Amino acid sequence: MPAPDDGRSAAQARAAIEAALGQIGFCLPGTITIRRARCGKPRCACAADPPALHGPYIQWTRTVNGKTVTRTLTPAQYQTYASWFANARRLRALAAELQALSLKEMARAEGWAKLTPGTPAPPRTRPVRGPNPDYPKPPKTPGDQPA
Ligand SMILES: [Zn+2]
Repeated sequence: MPAPDDGRSAAQARAAIEAALGQIGFCLPGTITIRRARCGKPRCACAADPPALHGPYIQWTRTVNGKTVTRTLTPAQYQTYASWFANARRLRALAAELQALSLKEMARAEGWAKLTPGTPAPPRTRPVRGPNPDYPKPPKTPGDQPA
């Protein structure tokens, strides 16, 4: 969906995104990978030419509490939930669209000609383990100075 350069107001564009979000349905996190594989046995059909590969192995990978979790789905399960994965992709696209619209609206409201690309992040400093000889020493207090 194009941003509101097509004559629509930002409010109209937002309403369209909200309407789409309201229709989205169930959303499953993670990604689906479908693989077919050779087992490596020389006389197996998977080693023939053309090969009859094993599978499909339908693997659903997602992150749970920071850990990657993989579950194998049967083809029937994948068929049942494929639309839920598609809904999640649509949800991410709509969220990105709403954010882009919001940025544009903020720039308009604030009178910014365009959003500045932002200041570069400061260079990352390495975590210091133990005393760092390069680290500037704190200035001495007057009491520390020789009289
Ligand atoms: Zn095989």
